[in-house]
Amino acid sequence: MTVYMNGRFVGKEEAVVSVYDHGLLYGDGIFEGIRIYGGRIFRLAEHLRRFFDSAKAILLELPTTPDALGEALLEGVKRYGRDEGYIRLVATRGAGDLGLDPAKCSAPTLFFIIDTISLYPEEFYRKGIPVVTASSRRLPADGLDPRVKTLNYLNNILAKVEARQAGCIEAVMLNQRGEVAECTADNIFVVKDGGLATPAPHCGILQGITRQTVLELAVREDVPARETVLTRFDLYTADECFMTGSGAEIVPVVRIDGRTIGGGRPGEVTEKLRLAFRRLTGSSDSVG
Ligand code: PMP
Repeated sequence: MTVYMNGRFVGKEEAVVSVYDHGLLYGDGIFEGIRIYGGRIFRLAEHLRRFFDSAKAILLELPTTPDALGEALLEGVKRYGRDEGYIRLVATRGAGDLGLDPAKCSAPTLFFIIDTISLYPEEFYRKGIPVVTASSRRLPADGLDPRVKTLNYLNNILAKVEARQAGCIEAVMLNQRGEVAECTADNIFVVKDGGLATPAPHCGILQGITRQTVLELAVREDVPARETVLTRFDLYTADECFMTGSGAEIVPVVRIDGRTIGGGRPGEVTEKLRLAFRRLTGSSDSVG
């Protein structure tokens, strides 16, 4: 593993934060999860942009620039030395006192960890996974905009627990209007009559970088795609369904709340996009 903290690379023992850090006390901070493929950082510019946008939205002044942080990340990947890996980039409001007020925090804490990633088993990609709808809702944008990738994941975590309790590994989260938003740490897509559809940003989602990549690949692969409003009915009656995320990449979903999707196996369009994604990242495909 390689750790960078507040401006320099540090050993594991030094990679610690204060118990007064507001990231820990209040979830006052932001993060990114980034993949390394073939020794290169996947979609670095997009992750940096989302990170700085998140910081701006919560009035967190980062002690660096996108260029300087990008350089540090590239240096980190060099030091890490492996071709495949995962970067967790985090910024918190920093150490303050026991009150909420961020004005009492002297300086933000900025760190990243580069380490191995635990991937989903190959079987999930080959057979697809079942999911359930969680009762825990995605936060409304007028509360805390889900486009901000904050350290507040408790409602997603509770949805994940619901998934586990139902014998699944993922859950679909709805917004306050009961429309489909996303999964606990992944975006969601359906295929109907050969076309792709995914919840639009106004449905209260994190604008995933894998989601964006899939929308771009769809253009290249001649698959019509639209960002729209989806309900559970649209999920249940879809021909295909899949979720996307930096860690998961593209995972076929074959069962939703007990309804079998399509033929109960990964669909054609999903496979086409999954293989196109693997080609793009240069990762070997042991599944297809
Ligand atoms: N939604 C949520 C809530 C997430 O936390 C994530 C990231 N893990 C995603 C979607 C997928 O985003 P990305 O493709 O940028 O990893």
